[in-house]
Amino acid sequence: TVARTLFEFDDSYARELPSLSVPWTAAEVPAPELLVLNEGLAAELGVDPALLREPAGVSSLVGHGLPEGVSTVAQVYAGHQFGGYQPRLGDGRALLLGEVIDVAGHRRDLHLKGSGRTPFSRRGDGLAAVGPMLREYLMGEAMHGLGIPTTRALSVAATGVPVPRDGATLPGAVLCRVAASHLRVGTFQYAANLRETVAGDLDVLRGLADHAIARHHPDSGSYLEFYRRVVHAQAELVARWMLVGFVHGVMNTDNMTISGETIDYGPCAFLDAFDPTAVFSSIDSGGRYAYANQPPVAQWNLARLAESLLPLIDPDAEQAVAAATAVLDEFPDAYRRHWDEGLTAKLGLGAPDPQLATDVLELLRTQGVDLTLFFRALAAGTARDLFVDPAPFDVWAERRDALLPADRTAVAAAMNRVNPVYVPRNHLVEEALTAATSGDLGPFHRMLDAVCAPFDERPGLEAYAQPAPDGAPPHVTYC
Ligand code: AMP
Ligand code: MG
Ligand code: MG
Repeated sequence: TVARTLFEFDDSYARELPSLSVPWTAAEVPAPELLVLNEGLAAELGVDPALLREPAGVSSLVGHGLPEGVSTVAQVYAGHQFGGYQPRLGDGRALLLGEVIDVAGHRRDLHLKGSGRTPFSRRGDGLAAVGPMLREYLMGEAMHGLGIPTTRALSVAATGVPVPRDGATLPGAVLCRVAASHLRVGTFQYAANLRETVAGDLDVLRGLADHAIARHHPDSGSYLEFYRRVVHAQAELVARWMLVGFVHGVMNTDNMTISGETIDYGPCAFLDAFDPTAVFSSIDSGGRYAYANQPPVAQWNLARLAESLLPLIDPDAEQAVAAATAVLDEFPDAYRRHWDEGLTAKLGLGAPDPQLATDVLELLRTQGVDLTLFFRALAAGTARDLFVDPAPFDVWAERRDALLPADRTAVAAAMNRVNPVYVPRNHLVEEALTAATSGDLGPFHRMLDAVCAPFDERPGLEAYAQPAPDGAPPHVTYC
């Protein structure tokens, strides 16, 4: 007989780092109903999607009926939220189910969100609503489609539990998310702080760093080199966000991974018109996490990681600071290199021309041109039409023309492989989530189809390639 198994969980995090989580179980789910299942991701995890659709499978996706011996945990971490340090955050509405070795041999976390209160819930209710969980699913798949490292949703299940939000009652949901790990900058901040306040020794911090090295950067060779790997992974990640106009929205240190994957899709959004000051989150009134601030904020977060790692980097505090600072100072150049390389490809050039790139972005900004539309139109030869005043664009286009490789068909084809047609447009995301919340998942699935293959223009999906109509209200998202 063929074994009909669901997941086989390991628990290396809980086992190796017992002071960084607490055993905890998911809240009862009276009426779990699978809303969406990521069949491709299930296959990557070595699980038959059909099994996950059966009652026992759906139960496991909300944290129940797990195999004997599996102990789910709430992870603890600290974090700087909008610049203010919180010594104890942790999974307030989430649980780590365990780790699965995927078919490629990689260790992946399975993690629930919306699974009820935990010891870290503070004033929160531990719950999540259908809309925001579907948003996380959609955004993660869009990022994955774009080739950008990201955590991904395996499923969203409705719980049947009402969730009070802003005076309304919304349908509840549990998201099951897959990540290379849930190690965050904030996890290191917590472990470093633990050493100062309780443990007095370096065991927990060192154990965490060793765990992170084994999982993500096994050939680091030293804690300083491990730090360098994280700095460079984040420099590349944020450059790739910037190239597609992604605004994360809540770049707190607890929302920045050690693996270099994008995590925690809250009030995130993609730019329509190119605007460096763009902010979409209702809670980011100061614009701390505005589009153009993301690279310096990432570097600021990485400085907090360095501070946490100092005692491991060198027992001599001054030497440790000097060494870590030198590595942190690599961030701007590393970021710049990825950004320049990315823009070179987006513009179809054979070699970087930073001035040409800067100049066209300034034109997009001053004339409010849609970022995503522009690069596809540039390949198609129709970009001029996007400018209210095309004269300065014409001057710029002549400069670019002089630099282009001879085979223009090949240039356009290469550009279309790096410039998406479809990104999750804010106004359409909202439409899809509103429909889903009242029971119609059709628009969600159509949009998901579009953004999962974002570079392949297909008939019938024209609406997904268009920005919000003129006069639409500015987009605001709430956590
Ligand atoms: P986030 O802004 O989503 O990264 O969340 C920041 C912190 O708040 C984390 O510790 C979350 O677990 C916690 N949190 C967010 N929403 C809730 C909620 N509804 N109930 C309990 N904790 C929450
Ligand atoms: Mg978070
Ligand atoms: Mg969140």
